[in-house]
Amino acid sequence: MTTTRQWLIAGCPRGRPVEDSDFELVTKDLPPPGPGQMLLKTHYLGFDPAQKGWMENIADYVAPTEIGEVMRGSGISEVVESNGGKFPVGTMVIGSTGWTEYHLSDGEGLVPCDPALPPTAMMSVLGTTGLTAYCGLFKIGKPVAGDTVLVSGAAGATGSIVGQLAKIAGCRVVGIAGGPEKCAWLVEEAGYDAAIDYKAGGLKAAIKQHCPNGVDVIFDNVGGAILDDMLSQIATNARVVICGGISRYETGQMPAGPQNYFNLIFRRATMTGFIVLDWASEFPEIRKRLAGFVKGGRLAFREDIQHGFENAPQAMQRLFSGANRGKQMLKL
Ligand code: NAP
Repeated sequence: MTTTRQWLIAGCPRGRPVEDSDFELVTKDLPPPGPGQMLLKTHYLGFDPAQKGWMENIADYVAPTEIGEVMRGSGISEVVESNGGKFPVGTMVIGSTGWTEYHLSDGEGLVPCDPALPPTAMMSVLGTTGLTAYCGLFKIGKPVAGDTVLVSGAAGATGSIVGQLAKIAGCRVVGIAGGPEKCAWLVEEAGYDAAIDYKAGGLKAAIKQHCPNGVDVIFDNVGGAILDDMLSQIATNARVVICGGISRYETGQMPAGPQNYFNLIFRRATMTGFIVLDWASEFPEIRKRLAGFVKGGRLAFREDIQHGFENAPQAMQRLFSGANRGKQMLKL
């Protein structure tokens, strides 16, 4: 018998920010692993803004969540006991484990970590974050050398990888992020050609200044007014990639439609949303490519690792205040 702590969903944060009271910490006993099962010990949890949308039940690409269920989320776990399970004891795996210290699994949906890289890389650059950046940029954005690529939420986990991949593809890359420190990091560490602090005001004019020939590819993580300003500067045949809309999350309202959408007509542009899971069959191949960039020193990634299972709700809230620096994780 193993005792585990778990965070359950206790509230629906629709129309308001996520609060500590939206979660309840409980203790549960797990039976020993049955035939074909493994006992997994969680080492890290990973956080994504989409988790708030799952709690709100606004997303139909995942099953609805319910009050009282274990909070959903990705985790890096180690196989600590196996009863003829899929992976040997000691294997580090990643999957949708939920906010729990231990859980039982038959291995379905779990992927072993690349032993040549730190296991957290599997959550950040080789995880959903890196895969989202790669698929959104190359499958939808289709950048060609010489293009100007403009990224919102640029200093975040996904955005910082998008910019570096666009540089590898030979593009000029401009990022939008909140605050001078994030902007300096984008240019000095992440290799962006220029960065714009949207909190300083005058975003539209700054985009025009840094993208004088227009924007060929927009990669948008934010939506709302920032998307509107980005749309004002698109070049002919631009591709607008809609990855996320974090500016929506605090209000719970659906965002107002962009006022500049007529520019899509004038510029013969396309605007396309995507869900990264649609390319799941290609993930192993894309992971290999991303791992090659990392091992070759061409792709840097930043991880923000908080500590203590009891701090999971606060770790998630960092995404919405912009406190996170890179992929938000929690070490148990
Ligand atoms: P992240 O960018 O590391 O963290 C979120 C960042 O968003 C914050 O650091 C903050 O940066 C910014 N932000 C928060 N509130 C904002 C607001 N009101 N206006 C403007 N910016 C705000 O998070 P991530 O995990 O990489 O996720 C990025 C986006 O990708 C999210 O929208 C997520 O839902 C989306 N996503 C999409 C898919 C898909 O399949 N389509 C898959 C995974 C993730 P600043 O300090 O710069 O404001």
